[in-house]
Amino acid sequence: MIQDIYPHCLNNDFHKNGDINDNDLVLYFKDKSFLLKTKGDEFELPCKKDFTEIANDTNSTFLFTLNDVPCFLIWDKLNSDRPGFIFKEIDFFRYTNQQEVAWVSMVGFHLKDWYTQNRFCGKCGTKTQQKSDERALECNNCNTVIYPRISPAVIAAIVCNDKILLARGANWPEDWYSCVAGYVDVGESLEEALIREVKEEVGINIKNIRYYKSQPWPLSGSMMIGFVAEADDTQPIVIDKKEIVDARWFSRSELPKYSSRISIAGDMIEKFDKGDL
Ligand SMILES: [Zn+2]
Repeated sequence: MIQDIYPHCLNNDFHKNGDINDNDLVLYFKDKSFLLKTKGDEFELPCKKDFTEIANDTNSTFLFTLNDVPCFLIWDKLNSDRPGFIFKEIDFFRYTNQQEVAWVSMVGFHLKDWYTQNRFCGKCGTKTQQKSDERALECNNCNTVIYPRISPAVIAAIVCNDKILLARGANWPEDWYSCVAGYVDVGESLEEALIREVKEEVGINIKNIRYYKSQPWPLSGSMMIGFVAEADDTQPIVIDKKEIVDARWFSRSELPKYSSRISIAGDMIEKFDKGDL
């Protein structure tokens, strides 16, 4: 899946914001794109020494380390309009084999979004400050502490008699199908959310829910929590026509187009296809 970047290692242990060293990596975003260095047909994350304008007073935030190299988010304007540098859309991950570059940019994007959305305290409106001892923002007026927001979402591979139930979202390309998924609501357990979402979207009851794997999905700030569930395939499928345009049981020999293993949905469908689910 997208987060599996071995032998590379992203470590999100918090380090106190400090000076940026010459070889430290820098992430620089413009809307939904980020800056990369070109190197033949490949790309590299730029580092501090690529930019003479980065100094000790440059507005920056420590994010995490990649292979023990600190990575900083740069807020001040950088001179990016020059040969050897290119902005890539954040969905770069869909077509690159440089998974570590894609993953670092996605996790950095999540944090950049969170910092940007919490510049002011939601309770009293005072400008927030970065906490010095953990990854959090604090309001010095009312003492509110704000942590990065992660929204839990559940996703299910629903199986019965060597078939899998897949649905097609209203805005998806034709012929593409995936697993039923949805956000967990306030006061719900993950299992309750899954039962509700499946009932709402395809109208069937599921049973024997068991945990599969999870996947952070930084672009929407979500945590996808995957389950395998069973259902009686004689139940009528009743789709929620707002979000879903079709849902069907598929056997292994007639699987439709589905996403690659970078997503947990693709991972589960592929496992079903191989007979391992
Ligand atoms: Zn406040």
